[in-house]
Amino acid sequence: MSSPSIPSPWLAQLSAAEVAFLGRVAVFAEREIAPHAAAWEEQEELPRAAFMKAGKLGLLGMTAPRAHGGQGFGYAAYALAIRELAKYQAAFAIDIAAHNALGSGHLLAAGSPAQHKRVLTRLLKGTWLAAWALTEPEAGSDSGGVQTTGTETRPGRWELNGFKRYITLGRTADVVIVMAVTGQTAEGRKEISAFLVNRSEIIPVRKVPTSGLRASDTAEFKLVNAKAELLGARGTGQATALACLDKGRIGVAAVSLGLARAALDAALHHAVNRRQFGKRLADFQALQFMLADCEVELRAAEALVLQATLLASKGERHTMESSVAKLYASEAASRICNRSLQVHGGYGYTRDIPVERYWRDARLSEIGEGSSEVQRIVISRALLKSTEATLASAR
Ligand SMILES: Cc1cc2nc3c(=O)[nH]c(=O)nc-3n(C[C@H](O)[C@H](O)[C@H](O)COP(=O)(O)OP(=O)(O)OC[C@H]3O[C@@H](n4cnc5c(N)ncnc54)[C@H](O)[C@@H]3O)c2cc1C
Repeated sequence: MSSPSIPSPWLAQLSAAEVAFLGRVAVFAEREIAPHAAAWEEQEELPRAAFMKAGKLGLLGMTAPRAHGGQGFGYAAYALAIRELAKYQAAFAIDIAAHNALGSGHLLAAGSPAQHKRVLTRLLKGTWLAAWALTEPEAGSDSGGVQTTGTETRPGRWELNGFKRYITLGRTADVVIVMAVTGQTAEGRKEISAFLVNRSEIIPVRKVPTSGLRASDTAEFKLVNAKAELLGARGTGQATALACLDKGRIGVAAVSLGLARAALDAALHHAVNRRQFGKRLADFQALQFMLADCEVELRAAEALVLQATLLASKGERHTMESSVAKLYASEAASRICNRSLQVHGGYGYTRDIPVERYWRDARLSEIGEGSSEVQRIVISRALLKSTEATLASAR
């Protein structure tokens, strides 16, 4: 059986069932994803059948409680599964992560028992896919900039109007969780609520041509008098969205770990096999140091992601830890993929091998689900708040 090559500090955190699951994920990734990764990248599309197979394996409901039909796994197992997929196809891994943490995650956190029964059970099995739509032309890093409106036309009946962009699975998902403005708060800010929208109400505009993750359906869509169900209490959409992003950032960081691992393995093999000046590339100290830096950064990234997963599994607040992990892992992965490309020379820049794809794919993790700058804002804000509180209590 294929081994998911679990980093040793993580092993102690996994149950026997999780280790067995990760073994099955490794086999799935090797047999069902790896052979098709280049073709899917070329076609800029992922077949629905791959998601159906992933669903049967439990990949679409990894951390959701078993009572809802999920697998009930911890976040360490979740991150390792996403990492395993990303080693072969980051586009597939990011779609699976977004479905788990954002689409299903938001529905799990805020949905009514009826919504759980009708929609969540299908999402966790993978018979339906979920997208999650916050971003718009005026709402990127600033989630408060949402302009899509939600109007209650009759008691309990809502209609949405607006435009969403850069939405993962935006044209393919069966249901979309949409954030929309439903009024004004007592403090004069926009009241943002979450809605559950069926695919039939979405007007697809286009698949956005992206640099990396080309097989992922990054889409724009319109909502014109789209019928929608309120998801959670009115006005709680933004707060629930931010809580989902704490989990989402673990998934993005895990994609970074997978890409960095694949890129470093490729660099090591190439350095040992390729000869120049009568020596192996691996014998040049300049390249040895690059490889050493990659290993150090990858281990540091793995440790930070593990730390965030442990808090998430315990149900403890992990906003800071997720931001730290996502910031470091994403930037480290970009550096590692860049060095791997350099170690490969001209070969690394060709599309004959996947290293240039890793390099393009890794870049998104520094932007999606909160850019590196946004992570630095989250981290520094938390640091300063606790310092101010310490100083105030000492006065
Ligand atoms: C492939 C892909 C998939 C995506 N999937 C989804 C999805 O499924 N659902 C969804 O809702 N969104 C999704 N997004 C959107 C993504 O989350 C946003 O692109 C991201 O949050 C950044 O927003 P923006 O692109 O509008 O950039 P902007 O907010 O315009 O930022 C531009 C630059 O300014 C910086 N910046 C902004 N504000 C500040 C500040 N206060 N201080 C310092 N620097 C700042 C940013 O860091 C960035 O470098 C996806 C995007 C991509 C590319």
